[in-house]
Amino acid sequence: MSDRRSELTDQLTATRDRIERACTAVGRPNDVTLVAVTKTYPASDVRILAELGVRCFGENRDQEAKQKAADCADLDIEWHFIGQIQRNKVKSIARYADVIESIDRDSLVPLLAGGERPLSVLIQVSLDPPEVGDHRGGVRPDEVSHLARLIADAPNVTLRGVMGVAPLGSDPDPAFERLAKVSASLREEHPHATWISAGMSHDLEPAIAHGATHVRIGSALLGQRPPLR
Ligand SMILES: *Cc1c(COP(=O)(O)O)cnc(C)c1O
Repeated sequence: MSDRRSELTDQLTATRDRIERACTAVGRPNDVTLVAVTKTYPASDVRILAELGVRCFGENRDQEAKQKAADCADLDIEWHFIGQIQRNKVKSIARYADVIESIDRDSLVPLLAGGERPLSVLIQVSLDPPEVGDHRGGVRPDEVSHLARLIADAPNVTLRGVMGVAPLGSDPDPAFERLAKVSASLREEHPHATWISAGMSHDLEPAIAHGATHVRIGSALLGQRPPLR
């Protein structure tokens, strides 16, 4: 077994154990989907993880994701786009992504519709505390309902739920609690939009405690990335 293969095997086992323990700790069944965030890592790592049973992969840059998806076209896996979306990249992303997790404005929706492949999308919700005026990384909770209706009406696009990133350097608990509330009110209008994508390497436990259905794990699985990526 190659060094990289044994390293990924160990880190995957450790990550799956963490997910399992986090579910047990709050008495929920382990129905959490692991999305392996492979940004900055090569297609060969995707291949190894796929052989080890990982089905979902996350990327945040179109160029890189497009190439990796092409390199792995023979694998039975699912690509999740989790990065900030530039308008001029939407068409490209929709060609390889199965799920776009980071829809954060109304103007992207018409660009999603009419693609050749069915597309699942999540609304990225800002988890900044309400008193923060300038919300980054997602729509404000009070904007979700409007955006959800636009997505639900778009042909060939399926609204699956919400995604959030807890603000860096503060307690993730209230942030994930807010996301759970947003998800609950979204489900009142869109009962099938059940996904909650929350939790990264450092905060998957509180995310699972607050109902995450998907966790996006990069560094704990693949190793520390160089800074600024
Ligand atoms: C990079 C990234 C992740 C994974 O982060 P880790 O801390 O490496 O687990 C998850 N979500 C988003 C949106 C990311 O950009």
